[in-house]
Amino acid sequence: MTDCQWSTVLKNLEDVRRLAQLIAKLAPIPSLIGLQGTLGAGKTTWTRMLVEAISQGRLAATSPTFQLVHRYPTDPPVYHIDAYRLKDDDEWWDLGVEEWMETPSLTVIEWADRVAKWLPQDRLTIVLECLDGDARCATIQSGGPRSFVWCQAIGRQWE
Ligand code: ADP
Ligand code: MG
Repeated sequence: MTDCQWSTVLKNLEDVRRLAQLIAKLAPIPSLIGLQGTLGAGKTTWTRMLVEAISQGRLAATSPTFQLVHRYPTDPPVYHIDAYRLKDDDEWWDLGVEEWMETPSLTVIEWADRVAKWLPQDRLTIVLECLDGDARCATIQSGGPRSFVWCQAIGRQWE
């Protein structure tokens, strides 16, 4: 049994921060988080919240405008990729994702659905949908045994 999926309504950014803190606290290291959702759904905001949670507020993340991958010097380091910016397959391979993915780190990929064929199945997926105003529906999903345990632990502690 490797399927875990649950949804919750996040009323505002404070809820996002709280859930990001829980996800960061419970993350097995190394691990991979794939963010999905339309433009403006909050994927970059989530990445920032996760980096803040890992760094316990000492470091703020920004959108990786000029680099295809941004490494935040947190402990463990967070690697942030926005797959929307990748022009072709070569750009993905040039990132060298597999070089660090197995090292103690947390990798966060925006638009993970665009590069899904290259990603390990066993990752945590967060799908974001806009509701009214600042509210978002977040669906958390596992893809394998490690993310299954993670996904369930987050769900239990979120209630
Ligand atoms: P994306 O990376 O998915 O395109 P961004 O994170 O760049 O989205 O933008 C989301 C915008 O929505 C930000 O301005 C953020 O402050 C705002 N926002 C408001 N409420 C939320 C929420 N609950 N979750 C995420 N973002 C939110
Ligand atoms: Mg973004």
